[in-house]
Amino acid sequence: MILGGIEAGGTRWNCAVGDGSGEIAAAESFATSSPAETIGRAVSFFVANGPLDALGVGCFGPVELDRSSPRWGRITTTPKPGWSGTDVVAMLRTGLDVPIAFDTDVNAAAVGEARWGAGRDLETFAYVTVGTGIGGGVVANGRPLHGLVHPELGHVRIPHDRERDPFPGSCPFHGDCWEGLASGEALRQRWGARGEELDRPEAWELEAHYLALGLANLVLTLSPERVVVGGGVAGTPGLLALVRERLPRILAAYLDAPQLGPGIDDYLVAPELGNRAGVLGAIALAL
Ligand code: ZN
Repeated sequence: MILGGIEAGGTRWNCAVGDGSGEIAAAESFATSSPAETIGRAVSFFVANGPLDALGVGCFGPVELDRSSPRWGRITTTPKPGWSGTDVVAMLRTGLDVPIAFDTDVNAAAVGEARWGAGRDLETFAYVTVGTGIGGGVVANGRPLHGLVHPELGHVRIPHDRERDPFPGSCPFHGDCWEGLASGEALRQRWGARGEELDRPEAWELEAHYLALGLANLVLTLSPERVVVGGGVAGTPGLLALVRERLPRILAAYLDAPQLGPGIDDYLVAPELGNRAGVLGAIALAL
């Protein structure tokens, strides 16, 4: 069996093939350019490494996931120039006559971690990525969670003390939503430095505070059995430890679960699949 996976990001596309065992047999990565050029490169890669039995796509979005909608498989509204309304699945299908599974990039990563990583053997599980933006995917009862649209965890609201932090937020839609306050873009705008160059303890104290507030909303709303926190900003050394200190304090022992107390180190974890979670998750969708 040869399965293909695409982690279709707004910045890069990562393509890979595997046999469904969690290993990658061949991979290619390239910058996201126009839809025609980017999708064409992906098709060429899979033709050269096929023939595929199925293809999974974890796509940046928002995307249409309702199978009964004529717009299924499309990117709907995106600020990325040229990509709004792109029919990703139809364009892939003109080059590859295979069954295609389609979901959000973060749902794919959640599915990958659920199958081969930190979510193994868990029924309900969340994956949060904190990078340039904030996104979250959810596996509920063993399946990626869809609904009206799909979860957009990055845009939940968290308390914002404007005396402590006068920064108005970076989200073009909401200003000071979670992503607007705690994404890599928010760090850059607030402190004038990118995450990897930011060496101010107060910046990371505030970041941990915001991440813990957003994660508390996630824990209270969806009750995941574990939360994986990935992405470039979340990988900053020491940050996850600060978040682990704060999350139980914010929840204030209201939820009676050892995972939110002494077991927090095993509850809030880094991705086991590292930066392969997205593309392996896309292969898992194909599976
Ligand atoms: Zn927002």
